[in-house]
Amino acid sequence: MKVSPSATPENNLDYRCVSILGATGSIGCNTLDLVRNNAEKFNIIALTGNKNVDLLIQQAREFSPDLAVIGDETLYDELKAGLSDTDIKVAAGSEAMAEAADQPSDIVIAGIVGVAGLAPTLVAAKRGTVVALANKECLVCAGDFFLNEIDRSGATLLPIDSEHNAIFQVFDFNQAGNVDHLTLTASGGPFRSTSLSEMKNITPAQAVAHPNWDMGAKISVDSATMMNKGLELIEAYYLFPVEENQIEILVHPQSVIHSMVTYKDGSVLAQLGTPDMRTPISYALAWPNRLEIPGRRLNLASIAELTFEAPDLKRFPALTIARDTLKAGGSLPTILNAANEVAVRCFLEERIGFLDITRVTEEVLNRTPKSEPKTLDEISHCDEVARVLAEEVVRSLN
Ligand code: NAD
Ligand code: MG
Repeated sequence: MKVSPSATPENNLDYRCVSILGATGSIGCNTLDLVRNNAEKFNIIALTGNKNVDLLIQQAREFSPDLAVIGDETLYDELKAGLSDTDIKVAAGSEAMAEAADQPSDIVIAGIVGVAGLAPTLVAAKRGTVVALANKECLVCAGDFFLNEIDRSGATLLPIDSEHNAIFQVFDFNQAGNVDHLTLTASGGPFRSTSLSEMKNITPAQAVAHPNWDMGAKISVDSATMMNKGLELIEAYYLFPVEENQIEILVHPQSVIHSMVTYKDGSVLAQLGTPDMRTPISYALAWPNRLEIPGRRLNLASIAELTFEAPDLKRFPALTIARDTLKAGGSLPTILNAANEVAVRCFLEERIGFLDITRVTEEVLNRTPKSEPKTLDEISHCDEVARVLAEEVVRSLN
């Protein structure tokens, strides 16, 4: 099953009820900014956060959801106290996270980072609602399983990831056979021109400082290693009716062309815009309509020059690792995602160096026999085994 834009949400286009999984993160805050500026069009039903209880309280006080959920159970009392003078229901923990996804809403923004978002996003998918997906790890970890659930429930999956949203906007689903290939653009991250010898000493602070996008720490590090583009390659494979060899990656440092579709006749359709996640998020929030977003417009005359280059696979081995993983299929994308999540966390904790991130991931992939997980339990088992092994590989490096 691949995404299809043919299903139109039955809900009223002029007024939508929205739940946000990962409200306190970068995607969540951008979504709430759009809701704040279009208050007459949206009603917030549920908000979730993991550790930033102060921000969750502030958001809940501003947007008055029915339910506010904090992932970290030790923060439950704080959340309860912070909202005690309101009638907002509060809860904590993973079951409550699923309850938030299950609240009746027209659209769920899947903005949790990592595989932690899989279970609640699946609950939203099973409910048959519109799932606006930022959480690419869901698809990388459990692509076929996730899409089967979407298919079975009749849910609508809309990509928020800017590249996939761009492709979604220009992909002619009625003429999928006429598509030659997709081009995922990549900024190249902060170390696009850094030599391998300099890369060894990159610190977490340097790695999270992305030149074009303001994002959470994990995706920022993924962008720096270019594993983000590797994960996006897998995400695109699951989202669109194309094969792995029909998806190419092109470095485009200005992040103006967000991705492209090349048709058989040589026509190339692209979506362009300023690098602002509110554009793809608003597209999902209003789909198939569009929201008015005042502010910066793309000014190509002032940008003057757009540049492109092939990715350097030597300095960014994550791209090859991800492509080989996708070709091999089975449990390997699940293992890749789990090992990468552990390696990025260990890098952020300064337990391993920057170049070790992909080394750890590759080592875990090499040491884990491929299997064919079909059920969620089997997928979770693969994920857990890979995490344990990744920790072991990290320890062996120290
Ligand atoms: P972030 O770190 O800023 O926010 C993550 C959110 O997830 C926070 O609300 C956090 O509380 C929540 N969270 C973290 N761990 C959790 C757990 N164990 N249980 C429950 N909730 C948890 O991350 P982000 O940059 O907003 O990215 C979110 C997702 O969107 C990622 O999958 C990322 O790849 C994707 N994405 C982000 C951007 C962007 O511009 N930020 C762009 C494209 C795709
Ligand atoms: Mg992206």
